[in-house]
Amino acid sequence: MKLGYPNHPRRNVIEEIDWIGRNGFDFVDLCLEPDRASVEAVDTAAVRDALRRWKLQAVGHTAWYLPIASPMSQLRRAAVATAKDYLAAFKSIGVEAVTVHADWPTGLFTVDEAVAWQIESLAALVAEGAEIGIRIMYEAATKQWDTAETMARVLDAVPGLLCHLDLGHCNLFGRDPAATIDRFARRLHHVHVHDNDGRSDLHLPPGTGTIDWPAVFRALARAHYDRTLTLEVFSSDRDFVLLAKRKVEAYAGIKRG
Ligand SMILES: [Zn+2]
Repeated sequence: MKLGYPNHPRRNVIEEIDWIGRNGFDFVDLCLEPDRASVEAVDTAAVRDALRRWKLQAVGHTAWYLPIASPMSQLRRAAVATAKDYLAAFKSIGVEAVTVHADWPTGLFTVDEAVAWQIESLAALVAEGAEIGIRIMYEAATKQWDTAETMARVLDAVPGLLCHLDLGHCNLFGRDPAATIDRFARRLHHVHVHDNDGRSDLHLPPGTGTIDWPAVFRALARAHYDRTLTLEVFSSDRDFVLLAKRKVEAYAGIKRG
């Protein structure tokens, strides 16, 4: 398994990549989004060079707040057009798979309507990705509607869309991260790890919340999962990130020479 870390989009991208490389991660979960990592701000050639310098791979991550399921068709079209600009930037950096998040409208609308709007936008992005050589990964988010059922409905309806499981998000509303891994075992393409108290999306170091991590890693082993794992722990003091990195490497059986 490969372990990665995301850059903070409000910090200098190159300095973030340098920190990730210096601290022995295998890849960057490259967040291209405002403000300092927006397509307008980012120098894609410099990003590509920095990744090469550290021998880091990268997966892509678009802003979680892209309104791909807005009830307003104009906003959905704008979200897709914006995401296409970002796919082009990822392509020029050499990224091959990019995450797009679930999006849900206000309670005035139904879950069926929201699922249909997501499918419409994601199908357009998967088609664009196929044109330029990028695969799209779907990450369920933090709302009550982000269930295994809605995930499966979206994934089933968009051929080529890949499954990205965020295990912190899978711990909210009484859900079970290990059971979710079992359900999506055969289609798992990318995983985010972080912990919480089951109520809020806290992005804590694994082992400091309520997730049963040994059970999670047993489920990943049952799934024969051997791909990318992003440590999505947000702490202003990054010593906590590095401690969490060692913990996850131990859970995952990742040995460094
Ligand atoms: Zn995530």
